[in-house]
Amino acid sequence: MPSNLPKGYKHISKKFFKEHDIEAWDKVEIKKGNSIFQGIILPRNQFAEDGYIEIKLKNGYNIGIKVQDLDTVRVVGKNPPMKVEFKGVSVPKDRAKPNVTLLGTGGTIASRLDYVTGGVIPAFQPHELYAAVPELADICNLDTKIVFKIFSEDMEPKNWLRLAKEVASLSNKEIDGVVIGHGTDTIGYSTAALSFLVKNLKIPVVFVGSQRSSDRPSSDAAMNLIHATQLAANGDIAEVVLCMLGSSSHTFGYIHRGTRVRKMHSSARDAFKTIGDIPLGKIDHGEITWFKNNLVRKSEVNSDVDTVCSTKIESKCALVHIYPGMSAEIIDFYIDKGYKGMVFAGTGLGHAPNHTFKAIDRATSEDVTVVMALQTLWGFTGMDVYSNGRKLKDLGVIPADMIPETAFAKLCWILGECESKDEIRTLMITNIAGEILPREEIRGYRILQGRTE
Ligand code: ASP
Repeated sequence: MPSNLPKGYKHISKKFFKEHDIEAWDKVEIKKGNSIFQGIILPRNQFAEDGYIEIKLKNGYNIGIKVQDLDTVRVVGKNPPMKVEFKGVSVPKDRAKPNVTLLGTGGTIASRLDYVTGGVIPAFQPHELYAAVPELADICNLDTKIVFKIFSEDMEPKNWLRLAKEVASLSNKEIDGVVIGHGTDTIGYSTAALSFLVKNLKIPVVFVGSQRSSDRPSSDAAMNLIHATQLAANGDIAEVVLCMLGSSSHTFGYIHRGTRVRKMHSSARDAFKTIGDIPLGKIDHGEITWFKNNLVRKSEVNSDVDTVCSTKIESKCALVHIYPGMSAEIIDFYIDKGYKGMVFAGTGLGHAPNHTFKAIDRATSEDVTVVMALQTLWGFTGMDVYSNGRKLKDLGVIPADMIPETAFAKLCWILGECESKDEIRTLMITNIAGEILPREEIRGYRILQGRTE
């Protein structure tokens, strides 16, 4: 009878292990149809489905196999336990090192793979990440706190506000920087939202995520976390930024301004790009190089002025993608449901179909703020060029020279702050956190489209 049953397995799998005298970390050979797999029996996470076993293959990948589907299984060797279970570590504080707080919100960076479904499930706690990436202890004294544990597609404006409050209170403490682990899907919304919600920031606030979960050999989690922590610990910046790999080689990270960054690839490790500009800078082996000089410098902010956070946010805002043939009913729907604001990701220079004008007119007459951003992402709104744009402006649509997600987060923030139409318009077209560019950086827009240079 095996004494060392692998952890995390339930009834069917446990029975199977007992029957075949298999223990954790045993090297096994499994035959399934024409395939033969050799690997090491791994423990499983507590949420894993019953009836499967997980093995780590020689190439480093882990797979799950349904026990019912196996033809034969044979123990071919006994292995010493691998260190895959992370325990919380407590490292004594070193007064000479900077102090950084890591806030956990969820996402791939704080999760692991479920090898049965292939899905990524939230599991790692920030302190476990700390244990998994021991290099962090060399960079700073790290405190960790879980704010929430959700995938970023489930974030809501109220979550931005909660996070902003945490950040504001940390900025008023004697710490050097904050790192926020966040799912990558909507991380750009959160970086934008916090850029508006938190005022008089005194320290770097570095958002970070990972495109591949922490227990995959190709994971970018560790490298991103190291770069983000180095930046939070030592960066002379007091802004909300995102720091993630700048290329698929795990060498350097780009530092993107929170109001200008966008996820541009669903799986590449260098998925994040600064839009309309070049990144603020780069971090490579701990060395920070700034490309831009219009930064809010940590060394220059007045530390006597308190960091403050908005107390309200308007969540009844919508982000609407304009498309050929879209129905005006979509706009009517939001008005009828009591929405306070709408951001359009308009076509071209900031257009919407003529047949939606009546509904747009209704929206602005009923005090729903309507903002026009661009689905082209690059370039500026030009609502005076075509008659369509001019008409929309006459209907009260506010042109926004920023990426649609940033315009959306900004509108949620503005409508939480003020009610006067003039104030709303003025704030929307005023640059608050680097979201509105004086001009486009020509070296920024570069889509190779098959060219090699
Ligand atoms: N869907 C995940 C999220 O955004 C992906 C990730 O973590 O990167 O939370």
